[in-house]
Amino acid sequence: MPTPPFDAPSADDIRIVSAQLGRTARNVIGIAARCVCNAPTVVATKPRLDDGTPFPTLYYLCHPGATAAISTLEATSVMPQLAALLDDPNVAAAYTAAHHAYLADRDGIERVAEIAGISAGGMPVRVKCLHALAGHSLAAGPGVNPIGDRAIALATWSPDVCTCIDYLATEVMAADVAESVTPLPATSAAAHRAGETA
Ligand SMILES: [Zn+2]
Repeated sequence: MPTPPFDAPSADDIRIVSAQLGRTARNVIGIAARCVCNAPTVVATKPRLDDGTPFPTLYYLCHPGATAAISTLEATSVMPQLAALLDDPNVAAAYTAAHHAYLADRDGIERVAEIAGISAGGMPVRVKCLHALAGHSLAAGPGVNPIGDRAIALATWSPDVCTCIDYLATEVMAADVAESVTPLPATSAAAHRAGETA
């Protein structure tokens, strides 16, 4: 679980993440968490994208199995259950600390005025996006983000069990699809995750 500053991603890392996302991965400054097989599960993304857009979601869940499992989880009644955990003052304090840890990681890379004090996933007092919270937990390791930890525990995907496909074998196919197919409407999960960045 590396913390900033991150080692630059390798060319293979970027190829795998691009295959995972189905688009060319840009603005990736490091791999914040990996599957047991070494495939990236969470990318660290520039706090300000190359086009100037502020990007609060430093830790972005890129693993297709993980994102699918978390989307399934969000579709159940687990969101209010997780939010209710914050009624416990100890959990609430830990979640606030996670928020500050997230900001410290991001500000250590670059301070972006437009998103100052804004972390991700609903922190420090709401539970809005489990993708962002699980991404933080995978990056930071267990014990930092209580809600992200709980989401991972409830998910059918685990960072300890590899379910990866051979991403690089799908790379050419993904590129062909991207170039030859009219873009489909964003899936609800993708739209949700995009909304998280707004
Ligand atoms: Zn794997």
